[in-house]
This record gives sequence, structure tokens and C-alpha cells, in this order.
Amino acid sequence: MRTQNTANPTSAGTASSDEPIIGLSGVDFGYTSTPVVEDVSLRINHGEYAAVVGPNGSGKSTLMKLMLGLLRPDDGIARLFGEPSHQFDDGSRIGYVAQHASASKEMPITVREVVKMGRFPHVGFGRLCEDWSIVDQALNTVGMTAFADRRVTQLSGGQRQRAFIARALASEADLLVLDEPTVGVDMESVGAFYDLLDSLNSNGITVLLIEHDLGAVTEHAERVICLNREIYFDGPASEFIESDALARAFGTTANLLGGSQ
Ligand code: ADP
Repeated sequence: MRTQNTANPTSAGTASSDEPIIGLSGVDFGYTSTPVVEDVSLRINHGEYAAVVGPNGSGKSTLMKLMLGLLRPDDGIARLFGEPSHQFDDGSRIGYVAQHASASKEMPITVREVVKMGRFPHVGFGRLCEDWSIVDQALNTVGMTAFADRRVTQLSGGQRQRAFIARALASEADLLVLDEPTVGVDMESVGAFYDLLDSLNSNGITVLLIEHDLGAVTEHAERVICLNREIYFDGPASEFIESDALARAFGTTANLLGGSQ
């Protein structure tokens, strides 16, 4: 783990080093009067590789939305890059990769065009050549150069996710947030996908994974945050395996190799 963004040498990377990328303090949230997230406090620091795990309906996606300012806490404080999360508006610093990257299925555009979208926040006169070179570099980093002119609709699930990671790299994101990114990705590509995340993290990108596959989490992430409305565990992946948090949060059906349900 490194604390500088060397994968994106041109990245702004401006948050001060002692300011966490994400800071939650005593956060409570419910869509109704029933709490979905309760008294959650955590920091995600620059360069970390952290995974949020928990059974279905345990509040993982809600927590992610609170972190990113898409929801506001009922109580407590959520900060993103040093600002109240709901006020943060520099989307280029966050690369979000959704499950299936499903929006892309409808778009009749090429991989290179998808990646180029990552440059939109940086658009300016005279930058065109530089922008295309950043796009090509991002494609190369994720191993998608050969697919640059292919339509996104023609890609496999794993290739599509790589294209969306390349878009995040092109936007020079400091933080990569992935919501169950390998759902629907063929088994052969899953390993290579996690290797790519490992490599990006080694080059300084902060990775926050929402993940159902506990095997992948414990193998790749350095830190596990186990949630079931409240935090059951927050610490090194190696300690999570040994802890009783797994059984307490997931129930007795949990197993590390086959997922949680
Ligand atoms: P997870 O991502 O762990 O599956 P979620 O954060 O999606 O969990 O959901 C946590 C709880 O909040 C669930 O009971 C779910 O039904 C409820 N929930 C999620 N989104 C909404 C919403 N938009 N409106 C009302 N309830 C919701």
C-alpha cells in the first residue's frame, strides 16, 4: 500500500495527507423510522484497499451512498475529501464502477469513447492531444488497448468492468468505488480483475469495494468492514477470518469459499 497516486501522475490528489478520503462519525440513517445504518464511525485513508461486507439487506449500499453524499445522515457526520459529503461536487475524483456496469449495455459506443468520458470534467481548449494520450494510457493500464474500438455492447462482463475502471483512471480519480463488480463476470476473468485492482492499489489508488464474495475479499482487500446495520468488525482481513464477526453478522450459513448466502 502506498499513499501517493502514482498510477495517475497528473492527478490533482489535493486532499491533505492527514485528512481521510472518507470520514464517518456516529452516522445513523433510516429510509423510514427503522434504522438501516446505526452509529457507524470509520475513516478511509489515502491508499487503502478496504472492503465492506455483509449479508443482503445489511446496509452496504446505503452506507456507500452516505459516504459519497448521495444520502444525508439522520444523525452524525459524513465527510468526503474533507468536505461534508453532500456538498462535495468534484465527481472526477471518484471512479464508480457499478454492478454489471449495466448502463453501458444500452450505449452503442466504443470502449475508447467510454474512457474518454472520464475526461469530460477536465475539458479545455488545447487539451485534446493530451486527453487522448491519457485515454490510451488508461486503456493500456487495464489491458484493454486491443478492444479500444470495439463497442461496449460486444464486451464480456469482465472486459466491460475494465473499461469502466479505465474511465475512472482517465478522470484521474483518487478513489475507486466498486459495488459488487464481479457479479456476472466469468470465473476466469474474476481473478485477473482482482489482480488489476491490487495493481492499481499498489500504485496509490484508494480502493473501496462493496463485496458479497468473502473469498475474494479476504484474499485481496487489506481491510474488512463487516456491516449488519452496525459495524461488527473493522480491521485486517486476516483477523476477520479468525474473528467471530463473520458468524455474528452473517449467521451460521456463512462460508468463505462459496459466498455468504
Ligand atoms: P445491501 O446493500 O447490504 O443489500 P441496502 O443498503 O441496499 O443493503 O438495504 C438496506 C435496507 O434498506 C434493506 O432493508 C432495504 O430493503 C432498505 N432499502 C434500501 N434502499 C431503500 C429505499 N430506497 N427505500 C426504502 N428502503 C430501502
